[in-house]
Amino acid sequence: MPATPTTPVSPLLTDMSGALTQMRLAVRPGDVLHAYGARLLVLNTRFGTTEYGERQELSVVAVSHEDARATWFHAWSMGLDVEYARRESATAESPQPSTRRWWLAVSLDDKRRFSGANGFRDGSDCTICAPRPLDPARREYEPCRNAHAHAWNQIGDLDRIAPGRRHYVLGPIAETWEQAREIAAETCERIRTVGHL
Ligand SMILES: [Zn+2]
Repeated sequence: MPATPTTPVSPLLTDMSGALTQMRLAVRPGDVLHAYGARLLVLNTRFGTTEYGERQELSVVAVSHEDARATWFHAWSMGLDVEYARRESATAESPQPSTRRWWLAVSLDDKRRFSGANGFRDGSDCTICAPRPLDPARREYEPCRNAHAHAWNQIGDLDRIAPGRRHYVLGPIAETWEQAREIAAETCERIRTVGHL
């Protein structure tokens, strides 16, 4: 039987690596984790101390209707004790580096609607990658070398400032910033209403 996708493939899933085995602690936002018989997009990854000890928390969402049927029809969180996760491996597809891939730090409002995003792209003018000038009024730019980390760092800051709010790191392939932002907004709306990509 030919494999006919029931939903159009998301630009978040363009140009991924094959499924590779890696350390569980090395899973990053943007990876597609293979778990519970399903493919799950990692929306956010963080570490925190809870009453159960040091935990790695992965926010994930199913990439298709079939994957949601095997798991959940909404974004959900997988928590694992860090001491245990340290010895665990995970199977995941990773986004290939591309100058057409935008990395967005996305904020949701309290109804889980898209409320805004900041974007980063490897190769674009970047103040974070440039040396810090002594005079803060004199901004310097260099081609960005680590857009993924910039978006993830910003999410980490947002999680600390607004711990009740949801934040996602999304990495669509897009031609322009406007298009990347549109994909992110549509993705958040699909997750909220349909429950998968
Ligand atoms: Zn940069």
